[in-house]
Amino acid sequence: MNDSRYIGRFAPTPSGFLHFGSLVAALASWLDARAVDGRWLLRMEDTDPPREMPGARDAILQTLERYGLEWDGEVVFQSQRHEAYAAVVERLFSMGLAYACTCSRKQLEGHNGIYPGFCRNAGHVREGAAIRLRVPELIYRFNDRVQGPFEQHLGREVGDFVIQRRDGLYAYQLAVVLDDAWQGVTDIVRGADLLDNTPRQLYLQELLGFSQPRYLHIPLIVQPDGHKLGKSYRSPPLEADQATPLLLRALRALGQRTDPALVNASPAEVLAVARRHWQPEHIARQLTVPEADLH
Ligand code: GLU
Ligand code: ZN
Repeated sequence: MNDSRYIGRFAPTPSGFLHFGSLVAALASWLDARAVDGRWLLRMEDTDPPREMPGARDAILQTLERYGLEWDGEVVFQSQRHEAYAAVVERLFSMGLAYACTCSRKQLEGHNGIYPGFCRNAGHVREGAAIRLRVPELIYRFNDRVQGPFEQHLGREVGDFVIQRRDGLYAYQLAVVLDDAWQGVTDIVRGADLLDNTPRQLYLQELLGFSQPRYLHIPLIVQPDGHKLGKSYRSPPLEADQATPLLLRALRALGQRTDPALVNASPAEVLAVARRHWQPEHIARQLTVPEADLH
């Protein structure tokens, strides 16, 4: 199949090195794009400097290169996109679709993470406040290519959410929607930890008049204690000389058959074969896979 209009992307956060879980996500997204001769873009989600690990950006790019996951065009850095984000926040605020919130962390305790709307009609000024987007009392739904139908009632299950933090940093939800639209992304392939972020993103797309991309959420690789890889400890970088075995393992994590003869192949050869045989319908329809279950 050839779909030259396909535009996929990988959007790592430079808070640490790529770990096996992020390799699986990068590989799935790369294969899904390359299987149809689509484009594959790389975007560094460096919107949170305090959480950034020095050297992580370069290390991530180097690992992707060594593993043969070549991207098209220049890398986009979200840290270079603040003007675009600011313009949209300003527009949403002046239209009354977003408002300033001065609640402290303490005030927001005990609401199951759902914003109780304290500042919704307070008319606070922007200075020194977080900016929240007003959500409608509506269900947002989509059909995930692997996980199937997913829906969320934004008012009841999420509440008005932050698009710009009190410290001025832009929220992931805002940046991801603006950049996916700006880069013309048609297909989003990422970890299932983001499945329940998607309805918020659908709402933002609708509000801003963007078309809705297709979504494919792959099972998240988790540690024996159920935590996301790389969350509770700082993962070491993926070794360059482990590229072939780790790519083969990542393929199996995605339910793809691997030819035993490939253990001695180069990463590029493994990818070339995998791309021809990519079967996204073989990805397990589950939210997590324990790393220990992978062979
Ligand atoms: N930056 C996010 C992550 O590293 C991915 C965001 C996305 O793919 O939408 O988990
Ligand atoms: Zn508030």
